[in-house]
Amino acid sequence: MEISFSRIAELLKTARKIILTGHIHPDGDCLGSLLALYHALVARGKEVQMLIDDNIPVTYHFLPGIEQIARPVVETTCDVLVVLDASDAERIGRVAGMVKAPVINIDHHASNLKFADYWLLDNQAAATGELIFELLEELKCEITCDIAVCLYTAIATDCGFFRYANTTARTLRYAAFLIECGAQPHVISEYIETKPLTSIIALGQVLQTLEFYLDGKIASISIDRELGDSVQSTEGFINYPRTIEGVEVAIMFKADEENLIRISFRSKQVDVSKIALSFGGGGHVRAAGCTLAGTLAEVKASIVAAVSKEILESDV
Ligand code: 5GP
Ligand code: MN
Repeated sequence: MEISFSRIAELLKTARKIILTGHIHPDGDCLGSLLALYHALVARGKEVQMLIDDNIPVTYHFLPGIEQIARPVVETTCDVLVVLDASDAERIGRVAGMVKAPVINIDHHASNLKFADYWLLDNQAAATGELIFELLEELKCEITCDIAVCLYTAIATDCGFFRYANTTARTLRYAAFLIECGAQPHVISEYIETKPLTSIIALGQVLQTLEFYLDGKIASISIDRELGDSVQSTEGFINYPRTIEGVEVAIMFKADEENLIRISFRSKQVDVSKIALSFGGGGHVRAAGCTLAGTLAEVKASIVAAVSKEILESDV
């Protein structure tokens, strides 16, 4: 059922024990939104637990409260499970099966499958962080410096630090307010930009895998298991093919531990969330992803065919 901010605020006010979760492969928006809501609810005296069914990337270890996030290990119950920045139940991994509670989903993905008991969806929001900002306003919650750092990180990372097409006046207004509450843009940017040396060395090798299709409108990079194992983080690598002149869709193929292939899409105009959704994934118009079984070569062939078809049909 669709639900308003005021109704979510009521449900949270009446709940005693609340569990918060976000998607696997957590990013800045997922973690920043989760932590901001956590701090706000703890300040109200709630019993709050944060669960994510994945490792937390080192990049985000600076976020206040991050050490409180745990992986789900036992079945548990609570009054409400709040699912942030995730568009389907699979995205939260084992949390879906292990927490027995009514589910509230707050999300901004165009591809959201409305899987929860209650949902608040706004695909005009640049980040779930914008929606948490609005929820905290509804809760009349004081934006402490810790909350400001978390929410600024959530918002800034999902809009490419205010450069992508999802950046709006609302995005900048909220960010400005968060700076007034103590978030320091240069400090947060430095945490996010800093990479381990292994990542930069791997980038050199990853760029050797650049391939082009459809007269240069599609560019891909590929990371096999061996290369993937040598690098802690590949975040941001997709920006290299994305920024090449003439490229409409950039794709990153990455083999994971289970020999599944994770695919990231970035586009200038065509709707890549549609393509990702057709392969069981999801995302936004210009940034989406999915995971497929098969060899790198097989997966590449079917994904490139689908992207080519979409580009040809949308005439970009
Ligand atoms: P990224 O390429 O940075 O991993 O993801 C880009 C966008 O697509 C993010 O908003 C992310 O949440 C979404 N996304 C990536 N992979 C998947 C997936 O497997 N399923 C769904 N539903 N969304 C995904
Ligand atoms: Mn997001």
